[in-house]
Amino acid sequence: MKQHEQFPLSELTSFGTGGQADIFLEIEHTEELHGVLKDYKKPLWLVGSGANTLISDAGLPGTTICLRTSTIDVRTEKDQHLYVVDSGVNWDTLVRTAIHNGHWGLELTSGIPGSVGAAVVGNIAAYGQKVSDTLKWVEVIDTTANPDITECLMGDELGLKYRYSDFQNAKLEKYVIVRAAFALQDSPTTSLAYSSALKAAKDLGITPDTLTDRRTIIMEARKRAGSLLDTSNPHHVKTAGSFFRNPEVTKEQAQAIIAFEEHDVSAKEVLLQNLLHGGDSFRVSAAHVLLAAGFKRGQNWGPVRLHPEHVLKIENTGDATSQQIYDVAKEIIETVHTKLGVTLEPEVRFLGNFK
Ligand SMILES: Cc1cc2nc3c(=O)[nH]c(=O)nc-3n(C[C@H](O)[C@H](O)[C@H](O)COP(=O)(O)OP(=O)(O)OC[C@H]3O[C@@H](n4cnc5c(N)ncnc54)[C@H](O)[C@@H]3O)c2cc1C
Repeated sequence: MKQHEQFPLSELTSFGTGGQADIFLEIEHTEELHGVLKDYKKPLWLVGSGANTLISDAGLPGTTICLRTSTIDVRTEKDQHLYVVDSGVNWDTLVRTAIHNGHWGLELTSGIPGSVGAAVVGNIAAYGQKVSDTLKWVEVIDTTANPDITECLMGDELGLKYRYSDFQNAKLEKYVIVRAAFALQDSPTTSLAYSSALKAAKDLGITPDTLTDRRTIIMEARKRAGSLLDTSNPHHVKTAGSFFRNPEVTKEQAQAIIAFEEHDVSAKEVLLQNLLHGGDSFRVSAAHVLLAAGFKRGQNWGPVRLHPEHVLKIENTGDATSQQIYDVAKEIIETVHTKLGVTLEPEVRFLGNFK
């Protein structure tokens, strides 16, 4: 375990913003966590790789825990492969391992940044696959009870829905996820129907029939969508990906929004794309909502900018503070509500105090 005091969280977050953690603990073995949770300076915060988090400029008092655990254990039973994975494992490392082993079920989520623990918290999804499709169970520790006890919660106990789990609310937020188990298969579980990925496949001259070709296609589609995060490049775009969830709207609101601008899609297609994104009801693209409310691609507020092509990505183009990003997000939410009567919810998680 590594312990740091006054750790600059801006070094962790993909926004490159955030104040200091009073105490920052990098935990390499799950057993260390049991000891830490017996006696730590409160309050307690959890972070993965900081790719979906806006952390207060005032920093985080107390103790911030970052799991750097790294074991992937594959248990094969009949024709199913159960991957029991530490929360600290990088999501794309898990996906690459499954592809290497010839196991299907995660390949369309190639290239999503972040850790396995946070992937469960956010029920991450891309190109028609979501965590909840394969997640069987998680091992958790209740931070308010005896930390020596590890509990097992089944996938259907986690309130998993579109980009959401009960780890985001009072029901399960007291738990640290320490491991997650995913059931993968020997043959394809999902067909690739997402138009931007099919276009990438066509341009590359390959079909999505093998695991490796699927990964190649998805990585190309993500590159085109500005959805790859390369933190080893000091000039990487500082963003947390899509800032808002695609909102649920009425059919009439959907028709008004999709009629806007150059997007010429039918309500039927909107519904299909929504289902592919992991949605379960009538949702429209939040990007489309922003444009319909008058926000522009590339619009900026000082160092805070909406990506020049992918308007849903809020970026820090220089030395933005978390508060500046927060203020822009707030302005967007309020404007969209006033102009369109649509309620936007952030996908990004806020840690610490904002004004
Ligand atoms: C360029 C880019 C592209 C992206 N594309 C996608 C995409 O295609 N699909 C998608 O769904 N998301 C996408 N995201 C969002 C992001 O990748 C995911 O939300 C990811 O799961 C974040 O992982 P993290 O480890 O960085 O989480 P963090 O930001 O560190 O944490 C997220 C939340 O999880 C909590 N948490 C972390 N670890 C634990 C744990 N062990 N136990 C309990 N709670 C925990 C934290 O407290 C926080 O609330 C993208 C982000 C970026 C920057």
